[in-house]
Amino acid sequence: MGNAFNLGKVFGIQFRLHYTWFIIFMLVTVSLSWQIFPSAYPHWPQLLYWVMGTITSLLLFASVVAHELAHSLVARINGIPVKSITLFIFGGIAQITREATRPGAEFKMAAAGPACSIVIGGLFFSLQILTLGISEPIAAMAFWLARINLMLAAFNLIPGFPLDGGRVFRSLLWHFTGNYKLSTRIATQVGRGVGYLFILGGISIMFLLPHQWFSGLWLAFIGWFLGNAASASYRQAQWRAALHGFSASQVMTPDCPEVPSNTTVNQLVQGYVFTSGRRFFLVADEGGLKGIVTLHNVKSVSRQNWDVTQVKEIMTSVDKVKVAHPNQDALSILEQMDECDINQMPVVSEGRVIGLIARDNLISFLRTRSELRI
Ligand SMILES: [Zn+2]
Repeated sequence: MGNAFNLGKVFGIQFRLHYTWFIIFMLVTVSLSWQIFPSAYPHWPQLLYWVMGTITSLLLFASVVAHELAHSLVARINGIPVKSITLFIFGGIAQITREATRPGAEFKMAAAGPACSIVIGGLFFSLQILTLGISEPIAAMAFWLARINLMLAAFNLIPGFPLDGGRVFRSLLWHFTGNYKLSTRIATQVGRGVGYLFILGGISIMFLLPHQWFSGLWLAFIGWFLGNAASASYRQAQWRAALHGFSASQVMTPDCPEVPSNTTVNQLVQGYVFTSGRRFFLVADEGGLKGIVTLHNVKSVSRQNWDVTQVKEIMTSVDKVKVAHPNQDALSILEQMDECDINQMPVVSEGRVIGLIARDNLISFLRTRSELRI
């Protein structure tokens, strides 16, 4: 997801705020401070509505972070790395780079989020009871947060993939049928169905209850998002299934262009990038592989320095390059690329580069196979 700010790392997980998050944060804060609190507690001073509205809104998003963190920590316990957690308009997304390989692990990972929301909801209910006669604003805030966390859990438990409930549903199907592909297909179809129901429900609300048009629009919008997410997850799952079982040597391109390490950036661009159309080159001298250089590295050098900068100054040196082994599973290579945010990997056998795997190659490899129906 682009256009997100980095907030920093907690437990080694990068936290990010997508720009759409500010929209939902404003909406929640304004509706709490302007509508929800004033209509329930008309005697509060004006400023208190906004103070409590802002604090409540911040705590809501802290609850969303806790939900995503629960998924992430359980994923990590199961040996699955988590790259980042992003907050956006519909809540939070934990970017988990791999799918679980066993239904039990998937079940725990998926259930952890809603379970965490239920616990947080319970804690806020307790806070409400404790503060009931003592502080009305805090009790009011705790009550609202308790309900919204339970609603969050309930919403996420809807059994449509890729919602948490859909993942729980898939893990159960997977456990009982032993068939990952079939389970994914059924769970995503349910997910798409749920998306359509939301859209239908949202449109009905807009027509039948015109004063609730915004809620209707919102519901339809979520439905549209869910339907799309279900289709995208299904495509991704199909791809992964298709890649699984192929080795690096089967999906790599054997030719990998090399440039000497004393090539200038200008020579690289004029003599290699433009003529070959490639974005990735091995840097090698007589003594063997020195590193790799990509268009990304080239962009880090300002144009007037192209003639005086050599490739060896901007390359990723060989000890930092992630490499694949010829027998490595193609799916695990794709996952490694996702984890490290890279688009290419050289395939190395006995210290020698024998080929190259680029993300685009994997895609065209799969596309060709599906066109030929093999
Ligand atoms: Zn979740």
